[in-house]
Amino acid sequence: MKTRDEWEKAAAGLSFDGRAVINGKRIDTEKTSEDISPVTAKSLADVSECGQREVDQAVASSRAAFDNSWSRMSPGSRKGALHKLSELILSNADELALLDVLDMGKPISDATTIDIPGSAAILNFYAEAIDKVSGEIPVTDPGNVALVKRVPLGVVGAVVPWNYPLEMAIWKLGPALAAGNTVVLKPAEQSPLSSLRLAELALEAGLPEGTLNVVTGQGETTGAAVGLHPDIDVLTFTGSTQVGKYFMKYSGESNMKQVWLECGGKSPNLVFADTANLEEAAEFAARAIFFNQGEVCSANSRLLVEKSIAEQFTELVINQAKKIKLGNPLDPTTTMGPLVDRNQTGRVAEFISSGSDSSKLAHGGSRITIDGSDCYIEPTVFTDVPLQSSIANDEIFGPVLSILSFETEAEAISIANNSIYGLAASVWTSNLGRAHRVSDALHAGTVSVNTVDALGMNIPFGGFKQSGFGRDLSLHALDKFTGLKTTWIRYE
Ligand code: NAD
Repeated sequence: MKTRDEWEKAAAGLSFDGRAVINGKRIDTEKTSEDISPVTAKSLADVSECGQREVDQAVASSRAAFDNSWSRMSPGSRKGALHKLSELILSNADELALLDVLDMGKPISDATTIDIPGSAAILNFYAEAIDKVSGEIPVTDPGNVALVKRVPLGVVGAVVPWNYPLEMAIWKLGPALAAGNTVVLKPAEQSPLSSLRLAELALEAGLPEGTLNVVTGQGETTGAAVGLHPDIDVLTFTGSTQVGKYFMKYSGESNMKQVWLECGGKSPNLVFADTANLEEAAEFAARAIFFNQGEVCSANSRLLVEKSIAEQFTELVINQAKKIKLGNPLDPTTTMGPLVDRNQTGRVAEFISSGSDSSKLAHGGSRITIDGSDCYIEPTVFTDVPLQSSIANDEIFGPVLSILSFETEAEAISIANNSIYGLAASVWTSNLGRAHRVSDALHAGTVSVNTVDALGMNIPFGGFKQSGFGRDLSLHALDKFTGLKTTWIRYE
């Protein structure tokens, strides 16, 4: 394991290139913007602001790659190229991990053990799927045969957030590329560097030029140009619910492209008094909100505890929060780094201030400066949270936990479902019947029982209600990037 000094030395040796990658080349744009690190509070690179012209070029390049090369390559060749890209991610793991850490502040120990190996593994999963998912031959009358093929849709626009910069991109690219589509990727303005490096690695892996183009820039300009583009066939998005709605509008105003959305959440974690091991449940409850600085769409930000154990359980959770080591993310012993930028830190600080008016601040709550960056927020716990308060309802996307209590199972379910979101939920109980009953009643794409935020690359992930629709991960993700095409032959 590297020390902080060694990681800092490695970071100092990196060169950062913020230029967009279109048709296999770095390009210069008229406008650029600074990419400020929340770790150093300094600019890492000047990043291309891609306008309509660059987005048009990227889409034309991806269209040509789709028509002439990538979708026509043999499944074996596409599979080989994606496996090679996965290998290159692993052989460049330290660099990619550092790019994400410097861009958005996650601890280096998480980037090296979760984000980077996870991205490589997901790419391998979809590479292997290429020759294992087939079409259908349904039953027809004699003298007829109907072939139902899964065909790629063309050019995919992928717009992703900053909380898992490389991994969110791979969740989209893996199935989109495996299905034979080409991709125009638009990373978040806060975290473009690993996606840009990935585009270079894709070329090295043998993906033809234009198969993966990366356009950088602001959401309102570059993101909107991707969403509105008339020659993009599918738009896959991960980000906030508000922006997800814009993409539905962009589709209607342009070419009715298919839109798939993974949006926000306010996931509840229900802890019943019959939980077998409250210490363990508290450790998981803390992890479920404080991991990745709370910048996780499925973070269990509402903790619902049965009244008879509420006081005891709150104390156990606060004890866990006290164990978190807030610090410079290049220190491998750090377990919580800075938030992504000053905007997000200010936003979270405002939620804490409004929470302090409506509820009891039981732990944390301060904004802290470390090594010149004021983007750090202590793990924060509120109790006595009123049901109607902002911190009980709005997605904060930071390390802020709201604890509420309930008296009956029915009340717990009612509070949990009283949300515009439906991404994830957790339930803690030793009663098997209750585990099934409550899981069935919760409106959430994933319900984790006696654990939190259960996730696997072969298991579909996504939400109900305003958390979006369509599923990432698993073979089901291929559904978003393929169409069913029938060829019906009457041969007699
Ligand atoms: P965001 O919605 O602000 O931005 C996401 C992406 O959309 C970025 O690339 C951004 O540039 C782009 N964008 C922003 N405004 C746009 C516009 N007007 N038109 C077109 N594109 C635009 O989200 P964020 O702050 O980057 O990420 C945090 C959000 O992402 C949270 O709400 C979180 O819950 C959500 N998220 C969801 C999942 C999931 O799988 N459900 C996973 C991670 C994050």
